[in-house]
Amino acid sequence: MDSTVEVNATSKFELDYIVVEGQQPPLETPGDVFDRQRVMKDFQQCLIERQCAFVLGVGGIGSSIAMCLVRMGIDTIHLLDRDYVEASNLNRQILFSVTDIGRSKVETAAQHLKEIHNLRTNIHYYHTDAVRNWSCVVEIAKKSTVIFNNIDYGAVFDYAVNSLCKSLGIIYISGSTYANNIDINLYSGLLNDSCWACVNLINDSFKFTNQELEIFNDISSFLKENCCISGEKSRSIIEECLQELKTDVISPTQFSTLFMPLYQEKLVGLLLPQYIENYQSIEFIPKDRSFPTRTVGSWIGVCLSGSCLVVNTWMQYMMKIKRLTADNNKSFHNWIQINLSMFDGSYSTTGFPNEQDLNCPICSNVKKMKEQKFITIPAGNGDAGGASSS
Ligand SMILES: [Zn+2]
Repeated sequence: MDSTVEVNATSKFELDYIVVEGQQPPLETPGDVFDRQRVMKDFQQCLIERQCAFVLGVGGIGSSIAMCLVRMGIDTIHLLDRDYVEASNLNRQILFSVTDIGRSKVETAAQHLKEIHNLRTNIHYYHTDAVRNWSCVVEIAKKSTVIFNNIDYGAVFDYAVNSLCKSLGIIYISGSTYANNIDINLYSGLLNDSCWACVNLINDSFKFTNQELEIFNDISSFLKENCCISGEKSRSIIEECLQELKTDVISPTQFSTLFMPLYQEKLVGLLLPQYIENYQSIEFIPKDRSFPTRTVGSWIGVCLSGSCLVVNTWMQYMMKIKRLTADNNKSFHNWIQINLSMFDGSYSTTGFPNEQDLNCPICSNVKKMKEQKFITIPAGNGDAGGASSS
């Protein structure tokens, strides 16, 4: 039998067609919901079916990411969010409808995923605050192969999640959208690959404008009101900083130029991979005073395209590392930025691969941790696969 199939334009445009020239696709199994994925060139359905994804935040981007992952047929999905559905979410958060207003986002998302989208995935949800209930995040992360970080708490939170991913050796991916812009970050979690902290700074989270400093009274209440820093641990960090500065009272200027840089330094130390799994709560980190969606706007187009591109980035990465072809040596773009604005008649995209920064505190400490593991084996604290705690 002549097995040649006519495939238009395959070689001319180098499109990823299913059918390699001269081959037929495998026979279709009746009732196989994943057939059209299975026959896709270089797509490994079996690899997808082994994945356990942790989706942090099921808002504008997280709800569509969850929908995509479930439709692809991953093994398990864990959804975590502390919010309730609001009317202003409904223009873009596709897992909720008008009758869901006031309901828990994760519970509603899990219900609608099960009713409409699920094909084979185990769906779990946690209505909780990731910052206040960090130990819950750690426990779920230990069971996951990837974290999709969609929580809009700020750079230090991203730093903490990245540290956790690097410590556990799992993939960190985040997507953020605003107005017509989409930003995607992917870090493998592998020892010699770059991480979020190799290329991103957290300095801005510790800086205050003169306008903000006008209402400065005492340190704890200022930090609580302006960046949600609270809890026992934050009090002891404040105490330590004041002791080092050898003072009890500080002016707004001293607070900004001396105190906060010291607080930042201590925080970076506390969030290192060797400690990141040990906290019950990380309320001692600052929430960014960044612009909320209310000031820049958001819509279904940017959320849905952004989510699909985030899932695509992860999927392409997964397929790439398992594929042993020549282009495996081609560098993978960790950071991608897309602007959907069409005022000038075109989309704009940019992206590049990130080199590992040899001075990165997260990467260098993970390396040290792994080296130490071979030397001293900690007397089992039951954390299979986790980092040794100190
Ligand atoms: Zn790094």
